Amino acid sequence: MRKQIAAANWKMNLSLQQGEQLINDLLAKPHELKAHQMAIFAVPAPYLMMAQNKLSNKQHVGVAAQNCYSKKSGAYTGEISVEMLNSLGVQYVVLGHSERREYFNESNQFLAEKLDICLQHQITPIFCCGEPLQIREAGTQNAFVAAQLAESLFHLNAADIVKLVIAYEPIWAIGTGKTASSEQAQEMHAFIRSQLAHQYGQDTANQVSILYGGSVKANNAVELFSQPDVDGGLVGGASLIADEFAAIINALK
Ligand code: PEP
Repeated sequence: MRKQIAAANWKMNLSLQQGEQLINDLLAKPHELKAHQMAIFAVPAPYLMMAQNKLSNKQHVGVAAQNCYSKKSGAYTGEISVEMLNSLGVQYVVLGHSERREYFNESNQFLAEKLDICLQHQITPIFCCGEPLQIREAGTQNAFVAAQLAESLFHLNAADIVKLVIAYEPIWAIGTGKTASSEQAQEMHAFIRSQLAHQYGQDTANQVSILYGGSVKANNAVELFSQPDVDGGLVGGASLIADEFAAIINALK
């Protein structure tokens, strides 16, 4: 079975102490992660060490950076390199979140460079894609997402593409409380998988976990995750509340 993943994206929230408390609260809650399931915590960069210390000995739990830079090292003040992540033992990084695309002008090409350096350093990218509202209203979301995939991912070979996690996050559903319906999510996830199959073959496409992101909550996670091509969620707001995120973890297939 494909990996089923609940990934928390804390974004730029919480103090160190609040973050630590949230992890403590979550660890104290009943949650059962089976062999094919994972919980991943994308925490702010200054908290990566704390999260690693608390979680690296837990089974089926990972820590992610929310971003990294495309260069190995050098005069790039304020940036985070994959070698730094390696030195902390961090194994995942969220790339191409719509907030980074929008506020920091991250292009599909730039993201392709970041993906390459992550894969060269054994870091698993959680690659985000998804359309804005006006594209959804125009009905051209498939072409929009297909271009994101082609321009950022399709230079990779099949051996590398299966190392990725993809997160489909319709921008109109992020932080808005407006969730895509489970049919809309399934439709796009199946489309993304069909694009992977077209490029790499069905067997390869079947191995890639595709998460849904956009106002996932405890009360809609079961329905969303029950869709055949939805392999879990990337969760913003609800990942900041221990009860909510624990329930989302428990909603994994
Ligand atoms: C996100 O940050 O990726 C996200 C999906 O946020 P929210 O769950 O708050 O919509």
